[in-house]
Amino acid sequence: MESSSGNRLRLLLALMLLVTVLGAGTVVVSLTSQSRDTTEDLAEGAAPASLLLLNLDRDAYQAELYLERVVTRESAGLDATADREAHAENTFQLLGERWIRFVEIADRLEASLPGEAEHCEMLEIDRDIWLETAREVLDTQPGPARDTRLAQAKIEFDIAHDQIDVLEEEYREPQIGMLGAATTDDMRTVAIAVVVTVIVVASFTVALTITNIAALRRQAREHSRRETELLDNTRRQSFETVLRRGLEMAQSETAALALVARATEHGLDRVETSELLLSNSSRSHLRSMIRHSPSGAPGCGVSGPSACRAVATGSVQIFADSEALDACPHLSGRDDECRTAVCMPVSINGRASGALHATRRVDEPFDEREQATRTAIANHTGIQLSVLRNQEMAAHQASTDPLTGLANRRSLEAAVHSMRERTDQFAILMIDLDHFKELNDTHGHETGDRALRVFADAAADVSADDSVVAARWGGEEFVIVSAGAGIEDGARLAEQLQEALALRLIDGSTPGFTVSIGVTSVPANRPLHEALELADQALYEAKEQGRNRVIVGVG
Ligand code: GH3
Ligand code: MG
Ligand code: MG
Repeated sequence: MESSSGNRLRLLLALMLLVTVLGAGTVVVSLTSQSRDTTEDLAEGAAPASLLLLNLDRDAYQAELYLERVVTRESAGLDATADREAHAENTFQLLGERWIRFVEIADRLEASLPGEAEHCEMLEIDRDIWLETAREVLDTQPGPARDTRLAQAKIEFDIAHDQIDVLEEEYREPQIGMLGAATTDDMRTVAIAVVVTVIVVASFTVALTITNIAALRRQAREHSRRETELLDNTRRQSFETVLRRGLEMAQSETAALALVARATEHGLDRVETSELLLSNSSRSHLRSMIRHSPSGAPGCGVSGPSACRAVATGSVQIFADSEALDACPHLSGRDDECRTAVCMPVSINGRASGALHATRRVDEPFDEREQATRTAIANHTGIQLSVLRNQEMAAHQASTDPLTGLANRRSLEAAVHSMRERTDQFAILMIDLDHFKELNDTHGHETGDRALRVFADAAADVSADDSVVAARWGGEEFVIVSAGAGIEDGARLAEQLQEALALRLIDGSTPGFTVSIGVTSVPANRPLHEALELADQALYEAKEQGRNRVIVGVG
């Protein structure tokens, strides 16, 4: 945007420069030609006038010579008729015509040459006297009187020659002066035009250069900003890659959170508090899972997910100042200097379930790079916690009976397998609900399911110890294995189970029922199926003997 407006400005300046140069050139050419026109006008007018005067001068000399020749011949008694006929008419007629043409030109030049009209008038008077005298000479008979007249005519001719010289000078000198002035004017005009052009061109060039320098500086700044941005992005991406790989290798939430604790300190040298809050499974409250506080500043005191704006909205929250009107209430109440905060939501399985929270002094706000880094940490934390929780859920579902929540057959086998490594014997209880079909038929299948869950709770009551595992074996049959237990321990456990069931049934919410239990104890190295067969036989005995009892079977 900025660059295109800069380009437009430079283009405009370049166009203005071009227009100025063309304009100045046109002005120079026009002024020069205008000035030359004036000079030519003068030259055109004054030159013919000068030429005519020179001709007049020459004609006057010829007339003078003609007079002398006629007078000389006739004074010597020779015939001058031929001279008179040949020249008289021509000489005077020519003088008359030339004079008329000169007067025409002189009239035109009158305005340009002050004093010229006065001299023309004087010349005309002199010319008339001179012509008159010449005629008188020719009309006078030879003799002393004519010689006197001829001498007088010569004087008149001299006066006329002088007058012609004066007038001719009048044309020539101003003409030369005007030509010089016109040339000087031309040169001055050209010089002014050149100076103006140079100044304007220089101004535009400077403006253009300044604009170009400014544009180059802007480009350099933009380039450096992009480079920094690129470097930041590369760093963040490489940090994200490392974090993701590390989290993928964390096989438990504890390990993942330990890694997140290290990551939260990444690039946050000036951070005062950093905390990861996660909601409990019922989403009733937020627990502080990680807290980093070098200055001892307190963490976020938010109680539950709904009270945390980042978790409630699932969006990043930035609080510039705890004193601001829209500050987080949990930030403003704190008694420390860290009054600016960023809170990134942590989504687990698509649901905002926690927040990555950090605070700092108001005059050191989190910049975009730090915010982006923390957003990445929050996102990858959420992703890995989702993976781990999903894996845990899948594993739990694979090893658990969905109706009762007890271990299933496969996980019981696995539990027995691991028990063998740490014990030399174990007791097995095979349990079957008595007349369960009847209960189902009487109260319905759902009540039957509830009864199964009540029994499972009783079984869980007696297997709280890690050494005891209770499992649903199938239908309304259950198995309990007690590591390290002998036959008497097993029998006691069976009785405890019966008591626990009775207790669970006291409230009457489920129809009462009993169980039959077959008990045995085998060395740890004995195959499970053999131990189960023994227990099953004992159970069969219990059923046979009337149900609701414990029978011990020994292999
Ligand atoms: P006994 O005292 O001889 O064991 O008699 P019983 O009726 O308990 O035994 P029987 O094998 O005749 O019937 C077992 C019944 O358990 C049949 C079946 O419908 C019921 N049952 C098995 N699994 C489930 C279950 O998941 N839910 C419910 N509601 N009933 C189940
Ligand atoms: Mg049965
Ligand atoms: Mg039964």
